Amino acid sequence: MSSIIDSFHRRINYARISVTDRCNLHCIYCADRAAPHLLHEDILRYEEIHRVVQAAAGLGVQKIRLTGGEPLARLDLSRLVELLSQVEGIDEVSLTTNGTMLDRYADELKAAGLKRVNISLDSFKADKFKYITGSDRLEDVLSGIEAAKKAELHPVKINMVVLKGINDDEVVDFARRSISDGWHVRFIEHMPFANTEAEHNGLVSIGEVMAMIQASLGELKPSFPKAGNGPARYYQLPAAEGTVGFIGPVTECFCANCNRFRLTADGQLRPCLLEDDEVDIKGPLRDGASIEELGRLMQKAAALKRAQHRLGEEHAPVKRQMRQIGG
Ligand code: SAM
Repeated sequence: MSSIIDSFHRRINYARISVTDRCNLHCIYCADRAAPHLLHEDILRYEEIHRVVQAAAGLGVQKIRLTGGEPLARLDLSRLVELLSQVEGIDEVSLTTNGTMLDRYADELKAAGLKRVNISLDSFKADKFKYITGSDRLEDVLSGIEAAKKAELHPVKINMVVLKGINDDEVVDFARRSISDGWHVRFIEHMPFANTEAEHNGLVSIGEVMAMIQASLGELKPSFPKAGNGPARYYQLPAAEGTVGFIGPVTECFCANCNRFRLTADGQLRPCLLEDDEVDIKGPLRDGASIEELGRLMQKAAALKRAQHRLGEEHAPVKRQMRQIGG
């Protein structure tokens, strides 16, 4: 089988697919709250995403993660999960969600073939949650986490973006959940996307986050979870059943092992989250491109992948924010 190999010999076997740019939360670091939304006709239909995934699977892509915007804000996401889970060569369809609607959908997603879920949560405090997300749905997220666990969407991972002076005082509380509740918590460095409220907020590095946790909860021992071939480094605290993971896109560039591309909700192949390069696949798709032609567009996108992103060089993507790419 032919595969997608970029100019730096990295094999691409993972696609992150955004199904919508709409979200029911409006996080200060993710989106310009006033930015316009895509028109309905510009968003790829499920059958179109299915075709892109068939082409990708033919080139060795094995894992798909659905994201957004908020993927569960799109009608009948389980139908897409079912379609993609049945594509030959795809062994895992997973989801990144803010969790607010998981209580309602976890069981049906599981039945449709969803393997696992990452849930974003940045604060346990109702007032801070509201400040960060513009919403008071903290309790819904907590119920969503429980629903995902009950539906056995294992391992359920909780993603916390660490924001300087905003929620960094909760890092230890989040890490403690790996001991008290067996949670798998991942700490993510804040990436400064242009025109977001938190753009100039400053950085808490992953090194600082690890130091805070070790000072309060003891030594972090490296851990190697079954599911996790991405950029996170995993550790365990003494007596913890869960893990803590650290993702440092700003201070710990992990581009050398990058194995992914992104597909935006409006049908652009995006080789790197943090660079504005894109290849249009929607136009050719709607013009009736064959699976082979779609595959060639993926090869073209892979050829645009740079050795590494330039975030540390004061360069930030400007064309889109996370809500519009799919984090
Ligand atoms: N709505 C879903 C959610 O909340 O998980 C999926 C989309 S969201 C863009 C995906 C992930 O990107 C979330 O974990 C979010 O916290 C993260 N994210 C968004 N903007 C970010 C930024 N500027 N820096 C770091 N992570 C960010």
